[in-house]
Amino acid sequence: MVRETSEQAELEAMHWQLNLLGSIEVGIVVLDTDYRVKTWNEFMHNHSGILPSKIRNQPLFDFFPEIDKQWFQRKTRPVFELNSPAFLIWEQRPYLFKFASHRPVTSASEVMYQNITLFPLMAPDGKVKHLCIMVYDVTDEVISKQQLNLANDKLQQISRVDGLTGLYNRRFWEESCQLEFKRYQRSQGQASLLMLDIDHFKSVNDNYGHPAGDEVIKTLAAIIKDSVRETDIPGRYGGEEFAIVLPDTDANSARQVAERIRKITEATVIRHEGLELNVTVSLGIAQLRPDYQEHMAWISKADQALYQAKESGRNKVNSSD
Ligand code: GH3
Ligand code: MG
Ligand code: MG
Repeated sequence: MVRETSEQAELEAMHWQLNLLGSIEVGIVVLDTDYRVKTWNEFMHNHSGILPSKIRNQPLFDFFPEIDKQWFQRKTRPVFELNSPAFLIWEQRPYLFKFASHRPVTSASEVMYQNITLFPLMAPDGKVKHLCIMVYDVTDEVISKQQLNLANDKLQQISRVDGLTGLYNRRFWEESCQLEFKRYQRSQGQASLLMLDIDHFKSVNDNYGHPAGDEVIKTLAAIIKDSVRETDIPGRYGGEEFAIVLPDTDANSARQVAERIRKITEATVIRHEGLELNVTVSLGIAQLRPDYQEHMAWISKADQALYQAKESGRNKVNSSD
C-alpha cells in the first residue's frame, strides 16, 4: 500500500475545492487591490458568458461598466483596510452584476436580484491583498415577496371589513346601502339610515394621542354592534364616522336605536393605558323616502341631519323629518 504523502493530500484537497467552486450555485469572484479578477467561478461564467480565462487578471470595471467605480471602491475600502466584511442587499441595490434572471418568460423579473457579501482574504503575512465577492441569486425570494405584497393589496381591496373595528369598510357598506335602497324601491317598505360622528374627536387625539383615539373608535364600534339587530348593517364610514342601515325601520324606531347608542356612549368609561376617557356622539337619521332617486341622496339626508345635531350642541340625535 502506498502511503499518502502530505503533498498528495493537499493536491487532492485543492482539486475538491476547485470542483466545489465550480458547482456551487453562488457566484465567487476574487479581486486584488487593483480590482483585477483573480477567480471567476462557473456560476459567474454561466451568467455573464465571460470565460474565466478571459477575465482573469483584467480589471473588473472593464467588463462591467455599469458598476459605479467610485461607489464600489468606497464600499470595499473597509474590507481591504479594516479587514471587515461588507454586505449589499437587494432592497438597497437590486444587483451588482447585471445578469438575466433565467426564469420562465412568465416570470415577474427580467433581472437577477442579488445579495452580495464582500469579505477580506488574509494572506499568510496577515495583510489583506484580496477580497472575495459572493453573489447570491435571490430572485425567487424577491418575486415571491413581491407577489405576496400584491396579493395582500388585492385582499385588502376586496376585503369587506375595516381592520380597526371589524365593521364593514366604507366601500362595502356603501354597496350594501345601495342594495337596500334598490330593494326598498321595489318593495316600497320602510328603512332608515343612521349617521354617527364622535364629538370633538380631534381633542381626544390631541390630548391623549392617536392610540387612545383608536381605542375610542373601537369602543364605539363595539357599542354600535351591541345596539343593533342582526339584520342591520353597520359600517365605518370614515375615520370616526359610522353609518348604519336599518331595514324595516321607520324614523321613530331609528330614533330609539340612536338614543340608545348616544346614552350608552355617554355613560361608557373608556380605559386606555391608565387613562379614563369619556366621549359623546351626535347622530343623524334619515328615513328612506320614495322620491330619492339614488342611495346617495339618502346618505346625504342623514349627513345633513347629523350636521344639524352637531349645530344644535352635540351629544344629540336629530332626524331629517
Ligand atoms: P366634531 O364634534 O365637529 O365632529 O369635531 P371633531 O374634532 O370630531 O371633528 P372631526 O369629526 O372633523 O374630526 C375627525 C378627526 O378624526 C380628524 C382625524 O385626525 C381623526 N381621525 C380620523 N380617523 C382616525 C383614526 O383612525 N384614528 C384616530 N385616532 N383618529 C382618527
Ligand atoms: Mg368626523
Ligand atoms: Mg367628529
